[in-house]
Formats: sequence, C-alpha cells, structure tokens
Amino acid sequence: MIPYLDLKRVTDSFEPGLSKVLENAVKSGWYIRGKECEKFEREFAEFCGVKFCIGVANGLEALTLIFKAYIQMGRLHVGDAVIVPANTYIASILAVSEAGLVPVLTDPDPLTYNLSVEGVKRALSPKVKAILAVDLYGRAIPGNALSEFAKIHDLILVEDAAQGHGALENHQRAGSFGDAAGFSFYPGKNLGALGDAGAVTTSDPELASVVRTLSNYGSEQKYVNILKGVNSRLDELQAAILSYKLLRLDEDNAKRSRIAEKYLRGILNPLVILPNPGKPGEHVWHVFAVRSSYRKALQDHLTKYGVGTLIHYPIPPHRQNAYAEFGEQYFPIAEEIAETELSLPLYAQMTENEISKVIEAVNAFHV
Ligand SMILES: *Cc1c(COP(=O)(O)O)cnc(C)c1O
Repeated sequence: MIPYLDLKRVTDSFEPGLSKVLENAVKSGWYIRGKECEKFEREFAEFCGVKFCIGVANGLEALTLIFKAYIQMGRLHVGDAVIVPANTYIASILAVSEAGLVPVLTDPDPLTYNLSVEGVKRALSPKVKAILAVDLYGRAIPGNALSEFAKIHDLILVEDAAQGHGALENHQRAGSFGDAAGFSFYPGKNLGALGDAGAVTTSDPELASVVRTLSNYGSEQKYVNILKGVNSRLDELQAAILSYKLLRLDEDNAKRSRIAEKYLRGILNPLVILPNPGKPGEHVWHVFAVRSSYRKALQDHLTKYGVGTLIHYPIPPHRQNAYAEFGEQYFPIAEEIAETELSLPLYAQMTENEISKVIEAVNAFHV
C-alpha cells in the first residue's frame, strides 16, 4: 500500500537530529515563547522575506488574530465584508466569521484554482474591506496583481499561506504578498510540527505588535492587560522542531517538484485532468490535485491498486450545515472542483518505485 501521506516516514527522515533538538528543548526548563520561539520567528520571517513573524497556536488562529488585530487598530470594523475563494478549506472562512466579519465567497480561476483579480471584481461591493487569498494546494496567489488591486481599492490583503510554505511568485515568497499572512504548521503541511502550531507574518510593526499582544491574553507585560486577548502561543518544543525542519524545507519542496514533474510527464490518461504547474520552481505541491468526471471510480481503482488518495475538499464550505447562511448561492467552479478533485500521494520521502506505481495505476484506469 502506498499511503496518501506517511508521516512516520517524514519524521524518521529528520532523525537522529530531530530527537536531539527536542531533547535540548525539553531540558531547557522554558516551554512557551522562549528562545526557541524567538529563533524560529526570526528565521521564518527571513525565509518569507518579511520583517516580523509571530508564533501562534495553529493556522486558524493565525488568520483570526490578523482580522481581530485589524479591528483593534480601527482598520476593519465588525460587520465588514471579506472576499474569500469558495473552494478553500473551511478554516479560511471560519477565521473571517470568528473575528465578527462577513465572508463573501467568489469562484476561483479555473486554471490555477486560486483567487484572481477577476474573482475579486465579481464579489466587490462597498461593504468589502478586505481580501483573504489562499495559496491553495501549494501554488502562490497572484500576489502582485492582487496587492496592486487591493491598494487601488483601499482593501486589506490577507494571505492564507497554510498550504504555501516556500511557494514563489516572481522570486517572492508566499507569506509576503499581502498586508499579513497566516501559516499553519499542522503535521501534514509542507512545514509541519509534531502537533498544532501556526504563525503570522507581516512587515507592519503595528500589526505585529497587536497580534502578539492579542495572542498572549492581551498582555505585553506579565499581569498588565491592555486588550481582551486570547491564549494562542507557539510552544518551545514545536518551535525547536520547526527551526530544525525549516533548514530542509527548500530541498524537500524541490523533491516535491521533481515528483510532480514525473506525474505531469507520466500520467497520460485522457480521463484525468492534470493540475497546471505554473512557472518552474514556484509551486510547492502541498497537494497534487487531479480532476476526473469519474472520480469515485478512479479513487476505487487506485485503492485496489494500493494507492491512497484524498479529496480536497468533498463538500465546499457554502454547502456545509455550519454555513447555512450562504443559502442557495452557487459557485460553478468551486462546485466542479468539489465534485471532481482527487489528490495523489506526493511527499519528499516517496521512493522511485512508489512514484512509478502511482503513474502506472492512474494510467491503467478506464471506464
Ligand atoms: C490547514 C489549513 C488551515 C488551518 O490550519 P490549522 O493549523 O489546522 O488550524 C487554514 N487554511 C488552509 C487553507 C489550510 O490548509
């Protein structure tokens, strides 16, 4: 069986170094927002090409804290609308709701599956004050075009970079395109912790400071609370793990790219639509998303061949009971993706034999 993702294999590939790093963090005697956290924040800010990084508890809270901070700063107000792509993971939309803002959905670009300027224009209204664009499947948002549009229309651009660690657009890193970005280091992401973890990146000193304060009980100085905050901090063990794994992120992303290239060259089945790779070296392939009108049969066929797959995502957010308020809204492209998308196994530690077997299995599919 070729599992969709073998996390044990991923973790083992960082040994014995990873256990050493953990042991040091355990022995340090300081467990939340200490030296390890500071070190990772510095390194990750530099990696993304921004001035600040704030380690938080997970990706959802990274995004929520950005929106709450803008409300605190008076740049957004409760009830303002935020444009979000309709085909994202529900966490993007939950972050907007949790901050008291109103998500306005729009269809993505059918080629890149990402939010485009056209998509934003379709959803624009006087109530819209911000855009939340997602580096979906590991492909960077059209950052230059979106930030130019946002500037002209006086909108805040937030990037959901939870799937985009290391992705590029014209030599610029995901996490640096908008006014701020939220990252998740959920174990299965391209840069994954061994538990929950997240971060906010930004070059805005005021936003960085408000996010940091909000995430620590609204306090900058112990027992002095200037805001009504939450507890959403990055712990030292996860920070130490992330620092160590960050050293190999570009190399592992390059391995992912090579596997993606093999899939793109090797899969020749007319019943399967391949993803658009974009410019060489830019996509980091968090998900290798193929599409097929025969998805169910294709998935069953691959299971029989011993190839694990996943669907990202089977029910679009506007069809979830949690978002009944979206009513009968219809997003044809998001709908089409939800009905036809299938994700093939793709991670840096796959063997040549496994890669060939996946290609062979997909090519052997017929109806
Ligand atoms: C994983 C993910 C999140 C949420 O991250 P968590 O750390 O699980 O809270 C948000 N948005 C997208 C697009 C994601 O893939």
